[in-house]
Amino acid sequence: MNNTSSTARAIVKQSPGLETSDGDGVSLRRMVGTPDVGMVDPLLLLDAFGSDEPTDYIGGFPDHPHRGFETVTYMLAGRMRHKDNAGHEGVIETGGVQWMTAGRGIVHSEMPEQEEGLLAGFQLWINLPADKKMSEPAYQEFAASFIPIETLDGGGTVKVIAGATNHGTVGPVKNETTYPIYMDISLDAGATFVQQVPANHGGFIYVIDGQVDLGDGEAVPAGSVGVLGEGDHVNVNAGDAAVRFLLISAQSINEPVAWGGPFVMNTQDEIHQAFDDYRHGRF
Ligand code: MN
Repeated sequence: MNNTSSTARAIVKQSPGLETSDGDGVSLRRMVGTPDVGMVDPLLLLDAFGSDEPTDYIGGFPDHPHRGFETVTYMLAGRMRHKDNAGHEGVIETGGVQWMTAGRGIVHSEMPEQEEGLLAGFQLWINLPADKKMSEPAYQEFAASFIPIETLDGGGTVKVIAGATNHGTVGPVKNETTYPIYMDISLDAGATFVQQVPANHGGFIYVIDGQVDLGDGEAVPAGSVGVLGEGDHVNVNAGDAAVRFLLISAQSINEPVAWGGPFVMNTQDEIHQAFDDYRHGRF
């Protein structure tokens, strides 16, 4: 890497998210895809959920469709069962990830596989370009044991779900559409983490524990999202206390976005078509 042309990304916007509910009354915080933050092309939405009160999650997300993008579910705690109209079914457990390319469309449910205890995790939506929006639906699913963990010299770990670290640890998710990076990073006090994030990626961090400072004096507290500005890498120095955060980015698509509920296409006509196809059982 040529250091003279290397720019560390700063935080250009941060937000504590928007308390809301979705599905059948599931409490969550929408972090990206809100009026405040908007989308971070091609990252459409990030929902964070986490509660040990069953009434916050027991209703789950009964049957609903998706078309035109990918959904990524990463569980920090608990178990979630998914089941689609093509017969695909499975359970995402603590530390596991499901990467679903909805493509031309699926109808599925996502329901807690538990009646008590902590359920916590994230759902990310990543857009697809026009030439992939009507592709065949596809799944990539990895239990925690299939997600590599890199140990950092200064103290800490990186769970690599997608992308490659600067030290060459490669996540199991294959994606040659938007080349995403999805990492769960824990730093001991005083530790440093440097990661290339290509200049053509949109990206953000979500802070799980502690406060994350990218060296720009804009510390992002736990439970907040920080949108990355321009540059080609991030440089995080944990201060006096340990931190844990997600680093998520993907290659920007730069196409018109028409968003209608569970459908994300390029034009309103395509959104109308999606609703029509769904109503007439063509998913
Ligand atoms: Mn869904």
